Amino acid sequence: MNFQSISQFLNIHRPIIISGPCSAETEEQTIATAKQIAATGKVHALRAGIWKPRTRPGQYEGAGDIGLQWLMAAKKETGLPVTTEVANAAHVEASLKAGVDILWIGARTTVNPFSVQEVADSLKGVDIPVMVKNPVNPDLELWIGAMERLSKAGIKTMAAIHRGFSSHEKGPFRNLPMWDIAIELKTRLPELEIICDPSHISGNRDLIAFISQKALDLDMAGLMIESHIHPDAAWSDAKQQVTPAALGKIVSELVVRSVSSENKMFKDTLSVLREQIDHLDDEIMQKMAARMKISEKIGQYKKDNNVTILQVGRWEEIIKTRVTLSKAMGLDEGFTRDLLRLVHHESIQVQEKVMNKTEVKV
Ligand code: PEP
Ligand code: MN
Repeated sequence: MNFQSISQFLNIHRPIIISGPCSAETEEQTIATAKQIAATGKVHALRAGIWKPRTRPGQYEGAGDIGLQWLMAAKKETGLPVTTEVANAAHVEASLKAGVDILWIGARTTVNPFSVQEVADSLKGVDIPVMVKNPVNPDLELWIGAMERLSKAGIKTMAAIHRGFSSHEKGPFRNLPMWDIAIELKTRLPELEIICDPSHISGNRDLIAFISQKALDLDMAGLMIESHIHPDAAWSDAKQQVTPAALGKIVSELVVRSVSSENKMFKDTLSVLREQIDHLDDEIMQKMAARMKISEKIGQYKKDNNVTILQVGRWEEIIKTRVTLSKAMGLDEGFTRDLLRLVHHESIQVQEKVMNKTEVKV
């Protein structure tokens, strides 16, 4: 896939800032929000949902076609290009007819290849940028697949939007960021710009600045942040929306770092530190290989003596002693537990292989 970037399309330097209400509710709210965010001087495009996919029926499902007129009026007032979510061919047709500048596909649509294909088919022969939110479930192939469908339909300018993944777990986030998936996407498609949506990740306006900074530090190309003139009275996603003034403050306080530096001293110091890391990684791998060799021996020994692979007592002891030790060395407890779980899992696989001569990885 070849992409042209949204930052080029907008003719701006990164980070791209897209903001506006979760939903266009009334003409006044849409235009007033647009004017106030434009006045911050920090925003490059206006977003607003016209057709809202809601989890439960009976919630505000968007203004429908009339909302497009409000969005276009807001564009006329502010000069900001506008973007909205499309989920089917009818949405695409109405948006194109109204003159929307950029389309996006929402998380609940990306998850369904039939819907994505319908949107892609309705865009054949149309030159418009499309942003693709990650599917609600953490499936990178599905995310990439949606972009492939658009690319095959002839869409050239594309971006991915990272809005987090829904989970049964109740944590500080509405949708788990699972940054590794976005990093993997960046590795697989280096030319593709990724825009982070901290509003839908956090579900809570207090976390937006923190998530936004983290996204920029992971070299994401921009942010899509929901804003509303009266956030608490918003008809959808009230808790996560911020006032245009708060948006302006969040964006001005972001530290924008560059992905590299031409400074010689910086480069030299970095390469010395990286050499040290390379050397340590080498050692870690050698130790891991040695550890697995011992696991293999243990597997054989347990087999000869008809003893089970897993002894819970031993596993608990490993966790306890290693966590105490690593804490004393300043390592994060969660990291140590994750690492040990991974090593233990592999050690069980190795023993399983010796005991049952199985090649199946589970
Ligand atoms: C939205 O942007 O308002 C929206 C519905 O987002 P998502 O598709 O990420 O849930
Ligand atoms: Mn929303």
